[in-house]
Amino acid sequence: PTPASAAAAETNIQVVLRCRPINDKEATERAHAVLAFKGIRGRELAVRAAIPSDRSLTKTFTFDRVYAPEASQELVFRDVVYPIVEEVVSGYNCTIFAYGQTGTGKTHTMQGDLALSPGGQLSPHAGMIPRALYALFEIVNFDAGDATVKVSCIELYNEELRDLLAVTDDDSAKLKLYEENKVVHLQGAQERFVKSPVEVIQLLNQATEKRQVAATKMNEKSSRSHCVFMVTVMIKESTPDGLEVMKVGKLNLVDLAGSENIGRSGAENRQAREAGAINQSLLTLGRVINALVEKQGHVPYRESKLTRLLKDSLGGHTKTCIIATVSPARSNLEETLSTLDYAHRAK
Ligand code: ADP
Ligand code: MG
Repeated sequence: PTPASAAAAETNIQVVLRCRPINDKEATERAHAVLAFKGIRGRELAVRAAIPSDRSLTKTFTFDRVYAPEASQELVFRDVVYPIVEEVVSGYNCTIFAYGQTGTGKTHTMQGDLALSPGGQLSPHAGMIPRALYALFEIVNFDAGDATVKVSCIELYNEELRDLLAVTDDDSAKLKLYEENKVVHLQGAQERFVKSPVEVIQLLNQATEKRQVAATKMNEKSSRSHCVFMVTVMIKESTPDGLEVMKVGKLNLVDLAGSENIGRSGAENRQAREAGAINQSLLTLGRVINALVEKQGHVPYRESKLTRLLKDSLGGHTKTCIIATVSPARSNLEETLSTLDYAHRAK
């Protein structure tokens, strides 16, 4: 077992692991599960057959939390995301990433089922984004007019930004990323003020549709693009001496590109890199997080669009959570070990 929580407390970077259930395809392949959990919500993950020279050996990984396939969206949300929503309300910038191989549950975790009951209730399968917004509207009193929420939704593909809330596709051409007074601005991006969580669900549906239309036109695009949902909360407050201050917190919810091809040890596979299959933003994100965890002076934010976009929400007075997603099947063992390595290096 490797220690994790000491570094986490210092760096404000939390890493949790979530394993999805075995799927029908894996079940018919008789691909035996290779992961063993201590409870639905534990701290340890045992990987059988992790060591090629001795397949009978088991290797154990420790994270801030480890969720077994039976863990519900509600459980992951209450443990991991709700405390972060509270931080955002008190004025922090926070980021939650879903990191993992394609097909392991990143989108399920972040977005999940967006269908609402006739009474406007979330589905039990709703993911972290809709739940975070519902919680936000519960925590903050928006009726008095002292608080506002705005949302943006950006897709990043091949180091190009695209506005998923734009009315026409031409709008994305005008996106300009710059930094001023340590605040990142994305000029030209749609920022929608929302007054209820139901409005957010509508925007999410709109963004998802826009993302999918493009994905079917271009094979593999969906697994190679990042989707960043940004929520800004502004709360007007009066100080005891009668001054009015605006408390601003930001929550970024990021469904990352598939991590396949990144390779073990994070070193780039040269062939994959030359083929353009390596994702610059995913690679740089790993380096930025390593630099933050190891407290290196230079943090290479500028080396990718994703880290430039999230610069004011990574490092310093911010909180970051990485939800690493994996499959339990033996057929995915190599990618699973790669994800475990990446997640572990973030500690
Ligand atoms: P990714 O976004 O990482 O490519 P998806 O979120 O699309 O993966 O998940 C792939 C499939 O597995 C989907 O059909 C999804 O509903 C299912 N799935 C993923 N995680 C879970 C989970 N924790 N519980 C139940 N089904 C899941
Ligand atoms: Mg996905």
